[in-house]
Amino acid sequence: MRRDLEIAALAARGFMPHAEGLGLYEAALALTVSGPIVEVGSYCGKSAIYLGAAAIERGLVVFTVDHHRGSEEMQKGWEHHDAELVDPMTGKIDSLPELRCNLEAAGLESIVVPIIGESSVVAQHWSTPISMLFVDGGHGSEPAHADYENWTPKVARGGFLAIHDVFENPADGGRPPYEIYSRALEEGGFEPHLSVGSLQVLRRR
Ligand code: SAH
Ligand code: MG
Repeated sequence: MRRDLEIAALAARGFMPHAEGLGLYEAALALTVSGPIVEVGSYCGKSAIYLGAAAIERGLVVFTVDHHRGSEEMQKGWEHHDAELVDPMTGKIDSLPELRCNLEAAGLESIVVPIIGESSVVAQHWSTPISMLFVDGGHGSEPAHADYENWTPKVARGGFLAIHDVFENPADGGRPPYEIYSRALEEGGFEPHLSVGSLQVLRRR
């Protein structure tokens, strides 16, 4: 991975351990099918920088989807709340300014294209086959299963489905990402491709 982009990814606020980010990068580099990369859950762009680094090398584009209002566990009083991201005008979380700032600093504005909106609304109107889908949006049961159902049918044959925060042991983290990972293997026609920490990358047969 280009050193300047590695530094930008390390500096960005977010929830992507470096080794797992490099896993995303390696998977995207290994793509053999065409079509854009889609990320669900941009936050401040940390994971998008790893995907963007591979996209530059492969001549691909990354669309990254987020309503930027934060997941349930990011709201005030919850475990992952970050008061620095609250917009004083609305009193709501807004991670979009920091995403734009990070993409600008990384020189990725023409490679990583933000889509601001509710994941299910965007998915409803998305018809382009996806080379690699990275699911890291809402981790509750409802949003995680909705992302699985709405987005995975759009992954091209031979393309990748990456899911973050997949923990086999319930003591290590929430269930829904593991549940959708299991669904992809059991009913979705996906097979294991690569695994780093809580990142699982599957390949569509
Ligand atoms: N990939 C990021 C972390 C994403 S955190 C990183 O590397 O740091 C999860 C993100 O999903 C949050 O920014 C939240 O706003 C977004 N999100 C949660 N539910 C969503 C939904 N239903 N539609 C759109 N975005 C959603
Ligand atoms: Mg995550």
